[in-house]
Amino acid sequence: MTTDLSRRQLLAATAAALAGSPLWAHAAADKTAAPRFELPPLPWDASALDPVISASTIAQHHGKHHAAYVANLNRLLPNSPLTDAASLVEIIQRSARNEGSRTIFNNAAQVWNHTFYWQSLRPKGGGTPPSELAKRIEADFGSLAALREATLTASTDQFGAGWVWLVLDKNQKKLTVVKTGNADTPLTQEHLVPLATIDVWEHAYYLDYQSRRKDYAAAVFDKLLNWDFVATNLAKA
Ligand code: MN
Repeated sequence: MTTDLSRRQLLAATAAALAGSPLWAHAAADKTAAPRFELPPLPWDASALDPVISASTIAQHHGKHHAAYVANLNRLLPNSPLTDAASLVEIIQRSARNEGSRTIFNNAAQVWNHTFYWQSLRPKGGGTPPSELAKRIEADFGSLAALREATLTASTDQFGAGWVWLVLDKNQKKLTVVKTGNADTPLTQEHLVPLATIDVWEHAYYLDYQSRRKDYAAAVFDKLLNWDFVATNLAKA
């Protein structure tokens, strides 16, 4: 009884001391300041892509991986020369040119890449693209099957973690497939406009497909790819 009381008194005294200290006041102020970036909600329910991508993969991927990139970026940005950047894309493009900002680049690019990936997918996706887009794919790749093959080849050729992208190459004026390693993104190349992406980091597929990355990429292409999103991005390009 005596011990409990003195412990309670000690806690009360500590709390009073902390409340009066500038350190405590600073922490309280930081807590109320809104973080610069927020984790965007998924465009569909976490279980909506099941069984192609399971709800548990989506929960981990969005709730842990994507969320961590957002948290890291919010933590790093205030102490960096990029605090004045007007947008996420500006942060990515400026940090890409500066080796000293590599950690910020990695986290900022991963925030953008993941948001773009979620939008590239949808339940009951894949199948036949809208007619105008289908014609463009035929003109630039020869056929939808050839685009599919190029996508699967890029996904297996990417050594280690990375991304596979359908892009518009503004120099060649045609659609093409490119792969990028780790956090790298076509946003850093002025002539490339991203139209859709597939995350080929192991965390994107390992729970559902183990090491079968090609099977995952094929399933995404055939069953989840959001062709309306591709068409919208192409129309804006
Ligand atoms: Mn990922």
